[in-house]
Amino acid sequence: MQVIETIETFRTARSRYPRLGLVPTMGFLHEGHLSLVRRAKEECGAVAVSIFVNPTQFAANEDFSTYPRDMERDLSLLREIQADLVFTPTPATVYPPGHDTGVEVGTVTNVLEGVVRPGHFRGVATVVCKLFNIVQPTKAYFGQKDAQQCVVIAKMARDLDMPLEVVVCPTVREADGLAMSSRNSYLKPDERRAATVLRRALAAAEARFSVGERSGETLRQAMLETLATEPMGSVEYVSIADRRSLTELGQVPADGALASLAVRIGKTRLIDNVILGS
Ligand code: AMP
Repeated sequence: MQVIETIETFRTARSRYPRLGLVPTMGFLHEGHLSLVRRAKEECGAVAVSIFVNPTQFAANEDFSTYPRDMERDLSLLREIQADLVFTPTPATVYPPGHDTGVEVGTVTNVLEGVVRPGHFRGVATVVCKLFNIVQPTKAYFGQKDAQQCVVIAKMARDLDMPLEVVVCPTVREADGLAMSSRNSYLKPDERRAATVLRRALAAAEARFSVGERSGETLRQAMLETLATEPMGSVEYVSIADRRSLTELGQVPADGALASLAVRIGKTRLIDNVILGS
């Protein structure tokens, strides 16, 4: 496994692989990340993982400086599962002085996370576009955990004719249903217990959907009722939206819907989602 900090060295190393999967990450790796790396390696024969806590996708009031980092541990996990290339650029490499270009994806960035985190998806799309240009992957792998990010990246790749395939992989969960996330490490023990309410709220929507409920409002209400049972949780949004346009639905159509939510547990902001009807 080769660990590379600069773009030039990365390009040289990359040229040895006819097919290469890419898994972009912000590090502090867990089984969710590793599932993407394994799938990329399986499908492409070789895998590059980027580890970069991207400053431009954090707003000033967010957790950029405290975001968990453990490069040594990340590298040893990646070595174990035989990643081929690891790209670990510094912020100055990705954003040298004078860098002044960004990628704006359209209306799908204006809802859900985009409302609460203005500028977030511009930061994400810009860094992922740069990683695509540097790594030139055959396929790039993203987790369903960040459902809106998957929609935004797939749209960017399609709209800008990027020559690669975007692959969306299932959310990996803890035994009690909590979606794995680097940010779960912020949770104190009582908050960690309370955090299971996100998965339970999504399960409430799934249960209603499975017995034929198709009203968006009723399904959103079912999630809110479950969330209300957890006093440590403060709801940012619940959503039943079209899977592609991400617009809120009055009625769930035959091809299903994305049920998603964002909840603060103490100071920690958590998101989760399921697809209804898949
Ligand atoms: P992050 O390091 O949080 O930026 O995540 C890097 C990639 O891993 C993104 O594509 C995430 O959607 C994906 N990911 C994060 N958590 C999970 C999870 N629990 N299951 C599957 N993929 C995940």
